[in-house]
Order: sequence, then C-alpha cells, then structure tokens
Amino acid sequence: RVVLGIESSCDETAAALVREDRTVLAQRIASQDEVHRPYGGVVPEIAARAHAERLAPLIAATLADAGMTLADVDAVAATAGPGLIGGVMVGLVSAKALAMASDKPLIAVNHLEGHALSPRLADASLAYPYLLLLVSGGHCQVLEVQGLGRYRRLATTIDDALGEAFDKTAKILGLGYPGGPAVEKLARDGDAKKVRLPRPLLGSEEPHFSFAGLKSAVMRAKQNQGDYSDADIAASFQQAALDCVIDRTRRAMAAAGDMTALVVAGGVAANQAIRAGLEKLAAEHDLPFVAPPLALCTDNAAMIGWAGMERLMSHDFAPDPLDIAARPRWPLDPDAAPVRGAGV
Ligand code: ATP
Ligand code: MG
Ligand code: FE
Repeated sequence: RVVLGIESSCDETAAALVREDRTVLAQRIASQDEVHRPYGGVVPEIAARAHAERLAPLIAATLADAGMTLADVDAVAATAGPGLIGGVMVGLVSAKALAMASDKPLIAVNHLEGHALSPRLADASLAYPYLLLLVSGGHCQVLEVQGLGRYRRLATTIDDALGEAFDKTAKILGLGYPGGPAVEKLARDGDAKKVRLPRPLLGSEEPHFSFAGLKSAVMRAKQNQGDYSDADIAASFQQAALDCVIDRTRRAMAAAGDMTALVVAGGVAANQAIRAGLEKLAAEHDLPFVAPPLALCTDNAAMIGWAGMERLMSHDFAPDPLDIAARPRWPLDPDAAPVRGAGV
C-alpha cells in the first residue's frame, strides 16, 4: 500500500509517497525560508499564500517522480493541525479534493503525531512503548508513546519551546532566519564556558521545561558584551539548553513506565550536541537511543504519510470525514493536566 502525505502547517510545503514497507518512493519539499527571511520569522498570511501557489504542482511533481498517479495511491493523508491555520487549511483542503476525486480515504494527521512516529519510519525495529522527547519550533515535551494514537504527556514547557529559544538566540545574534542551524554552526567556534547563563528549572521536582529566562540572559549577554565573542554566546547558550534538556528528560524518565527506547524527534532533534547528550543519557539507563535522520527531523511530508500509513494499517482504521476541520491547536495528549503558562 501507498499513502500520499501532505504537509503545510508552517513554512515548508511538502508532499511524499510512502509505502507500507517504509520506502519513501518520492518526496519534495519547498522551503519558504527565502520568502520569510526579510521579516525575521514566518508571516502567517504570506505562508498561506505561498502554500496555495506551490502545493498543487508540488504534489503533481511528487507523483511524477514515482511514476504514479492518484489511482496508485491507497489513501491521502494531510496535516490537519496544529499549526498556522491558513497553511493547514491549504493542505487539508487539497487532500480532501484529491480524496474525493479519486474516491480514496482521507486521513487527517496531527502534525505532532507525524513528528512522534517519524522515528518508526526510519527504524523498523523501534517498538511501542517508547519515551519521546519532542523538540520543535512550537513544542518541547516528553511523552510516553504507548501505541498509535496513545500518548501520555509527562512534561512540557511552561513558556518557550526549545526551537523558539534557538530562533530567538539567532535573532539576538543577528544570524537571521531560520535560526537553529545557524546557532549550532556558530557554537562550534565558541567556548561554552565563556558566558554564564542560567539553567531554568534545573533540578526541580516536576520534569517541565522553561527557556524564557535563558533567552533573556542571552539578550543581556549580547547587550553588555564583555570579553567574549558571539560564537561564545552561541556555544554557552547551546550548552545551557542542553544541560536543561538532559536534566529535565532524566527527571521525566524516572516518571515513565518501562520503555523500549529513548527517542528524539522534531526540528531541534537535528542538533548534533542535543543528539550526543541524549545518546549518553540513554546509555546511562541501558536504553537504545533512536534519532531520525536529519531530513526527517524538520518538517516534511514523509512523516505525515507514514503517520497516515500507520493509521491505514491499524485494525480499526476508519477514514476521516471530508468535512473534518483544520485545528490551530491539537494536543497529542488531551488528558494532560494544564501547566501554568504552558501552551499545548
Ligand atoms: P511544531 O512542530 O512544534 O509545530 P515547527 O513545525 O515549526 O513547530 P519543526 O519544523 O519541527 O518546527 O522544527 C523547526 C525548529 O527546529 C526551528 O525552531 C529551528 O530553529 C529548529 N532547528 C532546526 N534545526 C536545528 C538545529 N540544527 N539545531 C537547533 N535547532 C534546530
Ligand atoms: Mg521551517
Ligand atoms: Fe514541526
């Protein structure tokens, strides 16, 4: 079986064809980095318009790459949230039209479920239940991934997401947009001990995250720049963020049930320092460590197609109704207790 996956929740327009045996038959991504760079961040209306202009030809090209037509596809899966609502609607409406025209099932995918299951696309041996650190532009959570559609949130951020902290640090250092990869690159030339930065919530009982105070400290470090370079600030920031991530994830691990592996996913999972730190943490607990290849960490349609495939292959599969709505917010664990100040 083959699923067509569509992603348009932020600033990547993407389509992919994913087969049951985990082969990605074709995939295309049109990044809007150039479109949003002058604004220093994603402008929702401009993103929605760019998705609308690019998506249909991108899907056609992806099908052509694989030498397929819609008739060869078994289901159409698209991100239905959470994300920038205009962009999500562009992708979801296209998926509805394609599903209706070809009489194939529609699968409305939670973008976070796409990230959460992406490691299973890359690694067939990764079995449920696993402990997931989801670190992206909008989220920073630790979840028990108990099975398809079964998520228990153990920790979340009380203010900024980790990717957001990387992006804001990049902005403060004038590295432009998008920021994460630029901060990582600059940090390689810096000394992480040069700038003293706080580690918010380090050692606290609850496993939650906080990065707002770290970002403010980076701002002060830049404004009152002393005997250190921007590279030193980047390295010190990345080290402080890593220390927080490791300490908080370690705490969440203590609260988790028996897990098959420690897994990281989402855009920040592309960061080599974060990957290396988590690998050590997993080894401490005698757990395998799984991180998807870099291209599967940041937004892509293969992970959306794969989440759709997992749904399609499940014994109780039911297609989503063609009038299903796009959702700007859509928590993976709707039962998670609210945390003060936290987003979903
Ligand atoms: P969400 O998935 O929460 O809706 P999103 O889709 O915008 O948010 P992703 O595409 O998953 O987020 O990840 C993008 C984020 O990852 C950005 O904040 C970006 O700076 C960060 N990021 C990407 N590569 C790296 C890297 N090498 N190091 C650190 N951060 C990175
Ligand atoms: Mg992006
Ligand atoms: Fe994402």
